[in-house]
Amino acid sequence: MSTDRSATLDSDVVILGSGGAALAAAVTAAQARLKVIVLERATVLGGTSAISGGALWIPGTRQAVAGGFKDSSEQARTYLRQVLGESYRDDIIEAFLRRGPEALAFLEDHTELKYSVRNLSPDYHPELPGATDCGRALEVGEFDGAKLGAYFERLRPPPRCMMGFGGMMVNRLDIYHFLNMRRSLKSFIHLARLTARFAIDRLKYSRGTRLVIGNAMIAALLKAAIDKGVDFRFGVETTSFLTDPAGSVVGVMAREANGLILHIQAHSGVVLGTGGLSRHADVLKERPGTRSDHISMAAPHADGAMISLANRQLNAQVGGHLQENFYWAPMSEMKDAHGAKVVFPHIVTDRAKPGIIAVTEGGERFVNEANSYHRFVQAMMAEQRRGVARFYLIADRRALNAYGLGLVRARPGLHRHFLETGYLIESGSIPALATRLNIDSSALQRTIQEFNEDATAGIDRRFHRGISSYNRAMGDANAKHSTLAPLDNPPFYAVRIVTGDLGSAKGLMTDAEARVLRTDGSIIRGLYAVGTDMNSVMGGTYPGPGIVLGTGLTFGYVAARSIIERIAP
Ligand SMILES: Cc1cc2nc3c(=O)[nH]c(=O)nc-3n(C[C@H](O)[C@H](O)[C@H](O)COP(=O)(O)OP(=O)(O)OC[C@H]3O[C@@H](n4cnc5c(N)ncnc54)[C@H](O)[C@@H]3O)c2cc1C
Repeated sequence: MSTDRSATLDSDVVILGSGGAALAAAVTAAQARLKVIVLERATVLGGTSAISGGALWIPGTRQAVAGGFKDSSEQARTYLRQVLGESYRDDIIEAFLRRGPEALAFLEDHTELKYSVRNLSPDYHPELPGATDCGRALEVGEFDGAKLGAYFERLRPPPRCMMGFGGMMVNRLDIYHFLNMRRSLKSFIHLARLTARFAIDRLKYSRGTRLVIGNAMIAALLKAAIDKGVDFRFGVETTSFLTDPAGSVVGVMAREANGLILHIQAHSGVVLGTGGLSRHADVLKERPGTRSDHISMAAPHADGAMISLANRQLNAQVGGHLQENFYWAPMSEMKDAHGAKVVFPHIVTDRAKPGIIAVTEGGERFVNEANSYHRFVQAMMAEQRRGVARFYLIADRRALNAYGLGLVRARPGLHRHFLETGYLIESGSIPALATRLNIDSSALQRTIQEFNEDATAGIDRRFHRGISSYNRAMGDANAKHSTLAPLDNPPFYAVRIVTGDLGSAKGLMTDAEARVLRTDGSIIRGLYAVGTDMNSVMGGTYPGPGIVLGTGLTFGYVAARSIIERIAP
């Protein structure tokens, strides 16, 4: 029944958001022939997941077993106990270890999603018992975006700076070929093929249809959801939960962009997958070690509105057992010619490479630059608490040309634009660079002299950079020392970095079936939270590459299975 201003919709499951976790739930529920409605607040689908690396961290997948990687649930448990410490929740980690492989197998069997184990991708605390160098991190296969038909233009594209020619997606392998194209015919041919396909695509599409990383993951799930009849609605703002007299959630009230009020019944469950609270208006309170220059790369609508609503209306519990409220990563930012901000996440491409270091405004190194992005920002925050206000990555000419620095790609001589915008600072000598950056010149000279002496000998006495397998994997395997080289080839370059986050860890407390809990610990029947709406399974720590999406896809699947299993026969 509908009137001019309102309409009633009927469904089995309402899912809010369209990131990886939400779509995993949608596909699983739709596969069981449930009627699924996805309400997306944005006009595009995929959220942060669509611009992510798409990596999953799930121990014990069938790929890992088939690949003969040496690992076990007990070993993974040992590792997670070490990393999570007091944040370790037995029920939820057991559910993750048991159902993660099951979730991925289900999604691969019922969609075109394909994952393979990365040959070398160490855990982020490789020094701890139970850590492994390979077998747990998985990389998504490419997906042909043309298969999405009209939905291709509804898929959230990655930022232009993360694509070649402003529209050609690249994965880790492509970047490897890019860095080697002058040395290897194979790499040259690989890139020539990609570029040719991109040129053809651009005759018909707004960007390349060869989708990789997070875009490929979302596109594969989206295609399956569309094929299984999931109803997608865009620009929808949910205003309240519908509840029955027993307090169970039985639907939502929402408003479409055109003002139409939707009264949506959900006979079996409502799943929140709205991408967490990184964009909350009061978010500074949630991250006390940061400042107003902090940059979040979470999706623009991820303001925690549903988390707050569940708390206000249903007395749902928010947060608990967390070491950090966010998943951190250092960021840099440039204003383009039109004044628009272009953000770069310093995740894998530069910090760990030989000839690049990080310093404070005092000209001092403060961290093992080759540690994970989460640990790197923890060190920045510790410095900020001591009063440090500015941080820079510094490289010499050789390093800049070989690896790039932030937005500046490894393209010798092609960085004039970045110098003009002020993003990249160049100077002929270290003292001159210190002057340009307004940092302590003698301290910077001393720091670089010490670093250079150590790097020449292949050691880092200060921070032990290059000792761990993770450090070495992030470096350059072809270099003399994989993460260390002296900065002695002028000119010298700097890019300012700030703290940033990839998403939030603080979310709605759930049980091991992703059912949302009240502050008194009771279950809110009919309400599920997944992805970053769910309080971090990893207790706000970052054990390895892909832990957010690994747990996100797992508990998206688990939530849908819980709904399916509760439906009366
Ligand atoms: C550059 C980058 C790389 C990353 N790489 C990885 C990686 O390789 N592996 C990994 O595990 N993690 C990675 N992360 C982190 C990870 O991508 C995110 O934390 C994760 O994608 C969040 O997924 P989600 O399903 O919770 O939400 P999202 O994917 O953000 O989706 C949430 C959706 O909900 C919508 N929404 C918001 N509010 C509402 C509302 N009220 N109603 C309806 N819809 C709403 C949003 O518009 C959005 O579309 C990366 C992050 C970044 C920025």
